[in-house]
Amino acid sequence: MISFIDLKKEYQLLCKELDPLIRNILENGFFVLGNEVEEFEEEFSQYIGVKKSIGVNSGSDALFLAIKSLKIGIGDEIITVSHTFISTVDAIVRNGAKPVFVDIDPETYCMDVSKIEKNINKNTKAILTVHLYGHPVDLDPLRELANKYGLFLIEDACQAHGAEYNGDKVGGVGDIGCFSFYPTKNLGAYGDGGMIVTNNHELAVKLKMLRNYGQTEKYYHDFIGINSRLDELQAAILRVKLKHLDSWNNRRRNIAKIYDELLLDCDLILPIEQSYAKHVYHLYVIRNKKREILKNKLLREDIQTQIHYPIPVHKQKSYSVLKSNYNLPVTDKICSEILSLPNHPWLTDEQIIHVSEMITNAIG
Ligand SMILES: *Cc1c(COP(=O)(O)O)cnc(C)c1O
Repeated sequence: MISFIDLKKEYQLLCKELDPLIRNILENGFFVLGNEVEEFEEEFSQYIGVKKSIGVNSGSDALFLAIKSLKIGIGDEIITVSHTFISTVDAIVRNGAKPVFVDIDPETYCMDVSKIEKNINKNTKAILTVHLYGHPVDLDPLRELANKYGLFLIEDACQAHGAEYNGDKVGGVGDIGCFSFYPTKNLGAYGDGGMIVTNNHELAVKLKMLRNYGQTEKYYHDFIGINSRLDELQAAILRVKLKHLDSWNNRRRNIAKIYDELLLDCDLILPIEQSYAKHVYHLYVIRNKKREILKNKLLREDIQTQIHYPIPVHKQKSYSVLKSNYNLPVTDKICSEILSLPNHPWLTDEQIIHVSEMITNAIG
């Protein structure tokens, strides 16, 4: 069996280091907003190259609170993509704002920057862009547009820990960046977790309050916040894993390179890496018109694949209320063709060669 992800293997490799740390926290009896979270926030800031990081409960909460901290709500619009995980868009709607979808680039599957300007109007407050699959979006033109029209630039970097845009780590380029530590992400906790990053000191102070009931000091509340905190156990685990992130990302890049070479002559569209990009291959996504047949053939060979994502957000039942006629031809087209292959740091070269052979046999 070649599994899509293998977190048991990861724990086997880390348990010697993790077990005493976890035990120590349990024995100390301090679990929420303590030293581990503070240290991890500091280390994560250094890693991304930003001034401030704020640990929260999940990537979804990171996005929700980021938008909230910018005072974007009812009557406002945020430009984003439909080809993403649902929670990018949920974060906009949960704040009362309206998502405006633009199509994606057919090569990177990220936001098509040329489609943004004609969707900007007086209600537009922000661009929420997604570094999908671990490939950075083309950020310079986005920044220019945001500056020209006075919009905030928010980065959903939930799939792109360590990815770089012209040498800068993504998440730290816009006004606010959001990360998820869901277990299967490139940097994952053993439970839920998330991080908001920013270079804006005022926003950071506000975000720290927002994640903790709008509290300035215990039982003194300046505004209504929520309970969304990274806990000490997860922070301690993430501190250990952060030290491995670069080598794990390098292994993912290495695996992608092997796939690239072995699948070159197949009837497939392979992922690309733009010249401005350092791709961290959260997902290695190929395209083929007979995607379903290929997926089933691989499953018969005990090879797990997944689809990210089969239905774009604008066609989800939960978004039928929007009732807008979106013209998103690239998004609509690729959803029926994409397939994510196993790509995690614990795959062996032999396994990747095997997967590639089975794909070659299946589609020629
Ligand atoms: C995982 C993910 C999220 C949500 O993160 P959670 O921690 O699961 O809430 C948001 N956006 C994208 C693109 C993601 O991949």
